[in-house]
Amino acid sequence: TQPIRIGIVGYGNLGRGVEAAIARNPDMRAAGIYTRRDPDQLKPQGKDVPVYRMDELAAHGDQVDVLILCGGSKDDLPEQSPQLAARFCLVDSFDTHARIPGHFAAVDAAAQGGKTTALISAGWDPGMFSLNRLMGEALLPDGATYTFWGKGLSQGHSDAIRRVPGVAGGVQYTIPIDAAVEQVRSGTRPQLTTREKHRRECFVVLKDGADQEAVRSAIVGMPHYFDEYDTTVNFISAQELAREHSAMPHGGFVIRSGNTSDGVQQVIEYGLKLDSNPEFTAAVLVAYARAVHRLHRAGQHGCKTVFDVAPGLLSPRSAAELRADLL
Ligand code: NDP
Repeated sequence: TQPIRIGIVGYGNLGRGVEAAIARNPDMRAAGIYTRRDPDQLKPQGKDVPVYRMDELAAHGDQVDVLILCGGSKDDLPEQSPQLAARFCLVDSFDTHARIPGHFAAVDAAAQGGKTTALISAGWDPGMFSLNRLMGEALLPDGATYTFWGKGLSQGHSDAIRRVPGVAGGVQYTIPIDAAVEQVRSGTRPQLTTREKHRRECFVVLKDGADQEAVRSAIVGMPHYFDEYDTTVNFISAQELAREHSAMPHGGFVIRSGNTSDGVQQVIEYGLKLDSNPEFTAAVLVAYARAVHRLHRAGQHGCKTVFDVAPGLLSPRSAAELRADLL
């Protein structure tokens, strides 16, 4: 059988992660990278993967089986996913939770019209965490679900601190509070405030002459981003920032605790410890691209989410092999 031909749309952190993930899946092949920038300026990791301009994609319908969209959720995917779903099968990682229903409707209309299969919001959250929240609720209806994130680098909060006057650079880590995690694991279903669940830690490089105290108070008091959390701000040099804080680790837990009868407690926990958030997200997108290819061949068109895909479709192995080995 021919490898599944993947088109990588957008070549940032996630795009590079998809290229790396395809290299570890022998049933897949990177057919091309499509970018809005000058293709000559991009340096793909794999020398044999061609780089094309975005506008060349329209003529490549017979060279690509599934597109993996690697653009940003804020500005790129709301435009690219519906537009491309009219012509191509695709997977995206749209992660603006409140806007998922609207994104689904736009992509579904395009995919139904074009008889394509498009899966949105894959990754780890949304994605693997969503599946585990669903399983927890379905299996333990009398219970409570808790999601903790971290320790991990938050892109949005890091961007927010870089916009504070006097800040030359910086990163922000979200850290779950151990006492809260232990309370949840004990099965007592605690009511936890935002401040009790996570804390935030910032590493900041000041501009010459900037006032350290003014920067600290602007960060810790920032509405929505920091004011509801206990935040520590560490001031470091540009060298230390580059040396110690350029990786993108992340992770977290989904915990469901519930009762199946009076006094009988059950706890389910799913956890991730990721050295690289984009590489793991990409690994999930690639497995879902395999499922999308199979759903499309089975005539299942329209927009899908992780809730709609049978787990066996994610595996390169046959159903018979999976029954014999993993059941
Ligand atoms: P990047 O900012 O690295 O890349 C986004 C896009 O920006 C790229 O596709 C690329 O498009 C363009 N770009 C990248 N680098 C440059 C550059 N140097 N100059 C100009 N343009 C550039 O974002 P990430 O790859 O880190 O993340 C993408 C999205 O993934 C996030 O917005 C987030 O929504 C989602 N995500 C989802 C997760 C989940 O669990 N569901 C987890 C993690 C992320 P082009 O090549 O066309 O220029």
